Amino acid sequence: MYDYDLLVVGSANADLVIGVERRPGAGETVLGSDLAVHPGGKGANQAVAAARLGARTALLARVGDDAHGRLLLDAQRAAGVDTAGVLVGGAPTGVALITVDPSGDNSIVVSPGANGRLTPDDVRAAGGLVQASRVVSAQLEIPLETVVEVVRNLPPGSRFVLNPSPPRPLPSEVLAACDPLIVNEHEAKVILGESSAGDTPEQWARLLLAKGPRSVVVTLGAEGSLVASAQAVARVPSVKVAAVDTTGAGDAFTAALAWRLGTGSSLEEAAAYASRVGAAAVTKQGAQDSFPTAQEVEAL
Ligand code: ADP
Repeated sequence: MYDYDLLVVGSANADLVIGVERRPGAGETVLGSDLAVHPGGKGANQAVAAARLGARTALLARVGDDAHGRLLLDAQRAAGVDTAGVLVGGAPTGVALITVDPSGDNSIVVSPGANGRLTPDDVRAAGGLVQASRVVSAQLEIPLETVVEVVRNLPPGSRFVLNPSPPRPLPSEVLAACDPLIVNEHEAKVILGESSAGDTPEQWARLLLAKGPRSVVVTLGAEGSLVASAQAVARVPSVKVAAVDTTGAGDAFTAALAWRLGTGSSLEEAAAYASRVGAAAVTKQGAQDSFPTAQEVEAL
């Protein structure tokens, strides 16, 4: 019997957003809008998304002993995430400094801060949490060696889901543990190496499977996704919605997919459900604020 449906191991960032008429050049100062501060980071986003759907969710992450860290912890707790695994201190909370111009284009500077200090030792110390979780999901906004340690500590019978974002080449030990590896086009191409990546999602999926994951999911925005395993390759359409803001859709999709797989859904069923969650998330502004409840997914 598992205590948690999903353990997310990953990043927690404060997103600091300022609207500008145009972005400054070198040596230049421009005035912008009032500052908006939002809880973000792929790990924190996934945990909130899963908990809001009703999954028993825990987060293993590190934040600073500062106001941004408290904001992130409050957002997790408000969504119902168990934050006993969130470590505090060692560096300032990770921050994304975001400027947005009137056309919606972003410039972003990320300071990983405490995310970069989530270590393999932290994973070993949280062994009880890992052992108590049916599904464990990770991303790459924390050190790669920390993700490697997660894979080494998975209990038999549990399931590991990885969204390799931001992408980089992965050791075979990590690839072999993924069930599934969840990528968009850009991530697929970086992991495969641009020149050998092929042109279609079907090709990316086949080439990625050959690297060792038990299954692969390619997310395709409004087009939905493609799921692939040794048994089958299938397109899974999303639902048609009026998109307002796609921030966080991939995180919501990944969290929902990971949770549903743990409840016994097939990869295709889980992707169909996760598509509805991703679609619901794009109908609202923001990341964590846009994630739906199970009832909102039903109503879609
Ligand atoms: P990423 O942020 O990783 O690139 P996507 O933007 O592909 O992820 O979004 C993840 C999933 O959310 C998609 O596979 C799809 O199922 C759903 N989704 C995203 N954007 C839309 C949209 N505009 N309409 C419907 N579903 C969407």
